[in-house]
Amino acid sequence: MASVPAGYEAVIGLEIHCQLRTRTKMFCGCEPSFGDEPNVHTCPICLGHPGTLPVTNAQAVQFALQIALALGCEIAPRSIFHRKNYFYPDLPKGYQISQYDIPLAREGRLGDVRIHRVHLEEDAAKLLHASESGRIHGSGSSLVDFNRGGTPLVEIVTEPDLRDPGEAREWAQLLRTTIKQLGVSDVNMEEGSLRVDANVSLRPEGSDELGTKAELKNMNSFRFLERGIEAELERQAALLDAGEQVAQDTLHFDPRSGTLTPLRSKEYAHDYRYLPEPDLVPLAPTEEMLAEALAALGELPADRRERYESELELPSKLAAQLAFDAELSSYFERALEAADGGASATVIANWVTGELVARLREAGDEAADPLQSKVDPASLAALAGMVERKQVAVTAARQVLTTLVAEGGDPAAIVEREGLGQISDTGELAEIVARAIESDPAAADRVREGNPKAIGPLVGFVMRETKGRADGGEVTRLIHSKLGVG
Ligand code: ADP
Ligand code: ZN
Ligand code: MG
Repeated sequence: MASVPAGYEAVIGLEIHCQLRTRTKMFCGCEPSFGDEPNVHTCPICLGHPGTLPVTNAQAVQFALQIALALGCEIAPRSIFHRKNYFYPDLPKGYQISQYDIPLAREGRLGDVRIHRVHLEEDAAKLLHASESGRIHGSGSSLVDFNRGGTPLVEIVTEPDLRDPGEAREWAQLLRTTIKQLGVSDVNMEEGSLRVDANVSLRPEGSDELGTKAELKNMNSFRFLERGIEAELERQAALLDAGEQVAQDTLHFDPRSGTLTPLRSKEYAHDYRYLPEPDLVPLAPTEEMLAEALAALGELPADRRERYESELELPSKLAAQLAFDAELSSYFERALEAADGGASATVIANWVTGELVARLREAGDEAADPLQSKVDPASLAALAGMVERKQVAVTAARQVLTTLVAEGGDPAAIVEREGLGQISDTGELAEIVARAIESDPAAADRVREGNPKAIGPLVGFVMRETKGRADGGEVTRLIHSKLGVG
């Protein structure tokens, strides 16, 4: 926890906005558009013309229910929409339709973090400021693209349960995987379909009161989220150390300079003059709607981790690594199925998260989906099984994987073709061990004298001679017995 200033405990709560991938906008029939020409997806309703009436998008409600249920929330039998009043050029009505005192859902949990509330609202339009619009209209001007205005948003508010920046990033990633799996949003931080704001405060270690928080906005990647929180914790610690107070501000983090600048001072609920929206009926999900949303959930990442730990007996970190990554976990499950008991779950899991991921990254694509690679899950399972049965040594198996990544194929055939099978002839191995000792008597002496690290060059000799086909454990055992150690 080096990322939390000494003497303090960090308290972090997240507010997440997620654009829903519905066919139409929240309260009108316009298509939500992503990346189209500006102002082509608009109508009198989402432009806020007088006399128009909003109608709630049933698909958006269904998607929001899925998110709320996936987060283990209690669904309100009857929730209502409010008008949140403020003036800004991206808000033609002068208010945003959101939810206030009775949100769609409350009191859930994802992983170790409690969910405070989940509600539905509409997105504002998009402002293009000086740098982008200046080319057209002179510097200092801003343009508005109303395509985004009225896009359905789900807002998720956590309790302040996170304690360090890395934990906040990991949790946000778990949330992303969970929502992505539901298929209700693109959840892309760079494109703004997932926006994570962080509320951050410090308190003296051991205290259980909450300190004054600042809110960080507009961090458009998980890495920047973590770095923004780190920078803010440092800023707050410096203030507190100097006996000053943290102001309840909203800040913008600039990842290039690593600095935080105030956007505005914090506004309070009463500033918005929330009023119940008179043009919309309350949301009252029926039993059928709830049953349908529940049925659409499938196995969620947090439950999958649980199952990997309890049924497959994977170590906890490994279980999370797989379960929280939709692509890796489906690859792993196919490999496990193909192995059909021929290799243990833990060995397969280690090959998937370790060697395979590393190889695919080396081959170029950072976010490579292993299912799109040339390494068939069944081939990886077969390779893991051969390692486990000691038919192939680990070093040789890595060579087989290199071939698999490059051209695919059957691992047993590759082992055969490239002569990579593990040396099972102890006589042959003993002869090579004898030569290793002869070639480096100094190292042999140090091993005899009880220096365990000195065995490295001797093992290295054998591995080179056998092209990695010897079992490391067996080689060590032979060297020790030859030298009369252990
Ligand atoms: P506000 O009234 O300023 O909107 P809320 O109580 O509604 O504050 O909380 C907003 C978010 O800030 C939530 O995610 C909550 O967990 C988090 N939060 C509240 N108090 C603190 C605090 N002292 N430090 C860090 N986060 C906090
Ligand atoms: Zn519209
Ligand atoms: Mg609030």
